Amino acid sequence: MTPTPRAIQEPTTARRMMRQYELVERVKRYNPAADEALLNRAYVYAMQAHGTQKRASGDPFFAHPLEVAAILTDLHLDDATIVAAVLHDTVEDTEATLEEIRRLFGPEIGALVDGLTKLKRLDLVSKQAAQGENFRKLLLAVAADVRVLLVKLADRLHNMRTLQHMREDKRHRIAQETLDIYAPLAGRMGMQELREELEDLAFRNIEPEVYATITQRLARLTAKSERVVETIAQVLTEKLSAQGITAEVSGRQKRPFSIWSKMERKSVAFEQLSDIFGFRVIVDTVQDCYAALGIVHTSWPMVPGRYKDYISTPKQNDYRSIHTTVIGPKSQRVELQIRTRAMDDIAEYGIAAHAHYKELGIDSAKEAAREGSVHPKLAAESGAYQWLRRTIELLAEGDSPEEFLEHTKLELFQDQVFCFTPKGRLIALPRGATPIDFAYAVHTDVGNSAVGAKINGRMAPLLHELANGDEVEISRSDGASPPAAWESLVVTGKARAAIRRATRAAVRRQYAGLGRQILDRAFERAAKTFSEDKLRGALPRLARATTEDVFAAVGRGEMFSGDVVRAVYPDHRDERRPSTPQGALNGAGRLVRSADQTMRLTFPGAEGKAEDRSDAIPIRGLTGDLPVTFAPNGGAVPGDRIVGILTPGVGVTVYPIQSAALAAFDNEPERWLDVRWDTEASGSERFPARLALKSINEPGVFAQIAQVIADHDGNIDNISMKRRTQDFTDITIDLSVWDLQHLTAIIAELRGKRPVNSVERVNG
Ligand code: MN
Repeated sequence: MTPTPRAIQEPTTARRMMRQYELVERVKRYNPAADEALLNRAYVYAMQAHGTQKRASGDPFFAHPLEVAAILTDLHLDDATIVAAVLHDTVEDTEATLEEIRRLFGPEIGALVDGLTKLKRLDLVSKQAAQGENFRKLLLAVAADVRVLLVKLADRLHNMRTLQHMREDKRHRIAQETLDIYAPLAGRMGMQELREELEDLAFRNIEPEVYATITQRLARLTAKSERVVETIAQVLTEKLSAQGITAEVSGRQKRPFSIWSKMERKSVAFEQLSDIFGFRVIVDTVQDCYAALGIVHTSWPMVPGRYKDYISTPKQNDYRSIHTTVIGPKSQRVELQIRTRAMDDIAEYGIAAHAHYKELGIDSAKEAAREGSVHPKLAAESGAYQWLRRTIELLAEGDSPEEFLEHTKLELFQDQVFCFTPKGRLIALPRGATPIDFAYAVHTDVGNSAVGAKINGRMAPLLHELANGDEVEISRSDGASPPAAWESLVVTGKARAAIRRATRAAVRRQYAGLGRQILDRAFERAAKTFSEDKLRGALPRLARATTEDVFAAVGRGEMFSGDVVRAVYPDHRDERRPSTPQGALNGAGRLVRSADQTMRLTFPGAEGKAEDRSDAIPIRGLTGDLPVTFAPNGGAVPGDRIVGILTPGVGVTVYPIQSAALAAFDNEPERWLDVRWDTEASGSERFPARLALKSINEPGVFAQIAQVIADHDGNIDNISMKRRTQDFTDITIDLSVWDLQHLTAIIAELRGKRPVNSVERVNG
């Protein structure tokens, strides 16, 4: 016969501290092989550690860990768990240290006490943590071993049972936390009995009047209908036994909290509740469950919509049972739960019930696994409770029962980290997450303006990997925008998407700024006034929704400024620009190489240079986002007079103004940008140029040419040759030089070489 865990005992009213021998006896009652000496040592150690400490009630503090241990003996837990319960408050509240506990009680108990101490510290950090679901996950992640959670729940249960000694505001907070976090956690772990007691204790403290009213009404109802319960139980038992089914039928009254939540949920009055009474039918086998169901349904009419088969489809927390409601004797609605003994243990004691199978031997454990948990339908299911199922499978397959507790290590949320905002909001993130991910999880605006982070009060890099329980404070700066490089450094999709969006928006803003400047000049050239209002009127003609769209399109080169002028002033006839735009000669662009080794254009407006021409385009911030390239066939070097050509979606290409290629842009004056070399930058970068040589065909020509270029510190990027005639060869050299002077010196030297017939710069 399966040993059934006894119900968790209600506290006796007379408080008397449990004696040393009583604790040992309680354990020995269900585990004759218990380590008596170990239990005694723990008792003495904790008693001495807590010394004369008192609880709020005036009781010796030591009574508390003993009561917690007693609750766990009711759940028939192993020695290590009981000892950990006795020791659970020593490290945090007394002089005791974890090292000492490890030394005296071994690594297993040491690890359990360590887990409990961590949870206790977490309590202090997270007083305001409002999101129960995440906090429960945090508990699970930090606990590391399911036994730590069992002790924690027993600890909370005892604190709730003695809550009346606390100050009222504290009482309310603890009760609310119990309702939000610990009761659901007990539920998730399948410990319904514990959950219900926690809920009722919390409810009593949060809504004392409502609690009193419901309790009184329940008492009245019970007194009135006691005969009904007995009658129904008796009729049921007889009908089942007549069909050869042994069943244990018990009537059960709902708890005040569950009645109240049903009243709240369904907005009904107490009187309208039909299922205050429930009956539990415990039978021997799964087949008997369905046989009993058949008997019930053929004896009384069933209430439609109330039938649920959780044996065929277990709940997430491994709960299995058949539920149905019938119109029973005396036209009473009767709610029934039909299940086997093993299912009932799991329903009441959840994970703690699984621990019992430690004593049962492998065969019954296998059976329990088969009927209690591992259902074929669930094999493919992914869910938070798979680990529980795995645990039971391991138990069933393992060689020794000890392996069960070995495998209760929580793997549940090991791939997540849980952190707090300074205000106590809990943020769940994937493992490996950084403060940047955290910032975006709090709010996109916080992420976009993040410039620094403090972790647990200390400055930390934004790329620091976060750990469980970290309190993260993000420093922000208005107007900051996230560097595009962050995108590859974050782990959350939300952060990645937000960074991409912000980067795109910043680029768009820059193009719009550029477009705005281009338009200003285009209108000026056309001797027309420009205003955004006028432009707004022309939006339909331009097929754009906003003026911002027009600016960005012009900036990107997708729309030409002349078209915009004509859209605003339809009667305007523009004269095309001459082929070599004078205005371009003394532009104000400045080329610099940025940290990521790409060339960028800056404009002296940003530096505020006094000699800037007024028609230059001073664009701040353009640096980061307009890539600069050089004339593809011939390049450009400092000293050349240059012009920039804006290419849609590409950026700016810099041409020497003598480039033949510029003719292609004659009819698109809006694409021309005034740029010029920054003399300070000269000599710090190499720039591309192309030379065309004609040389006599003789051995060693290449070597001589290469030597000249090398002597002058030029870089040859590419050489190609083509034999033109038998005597002469055409050679094209792509090289990079510091500036025009440098290039001119190389050309002069090459021209001086005997085999070289001619040297010309190429401006394609
Ligand atoms: Mn405690």
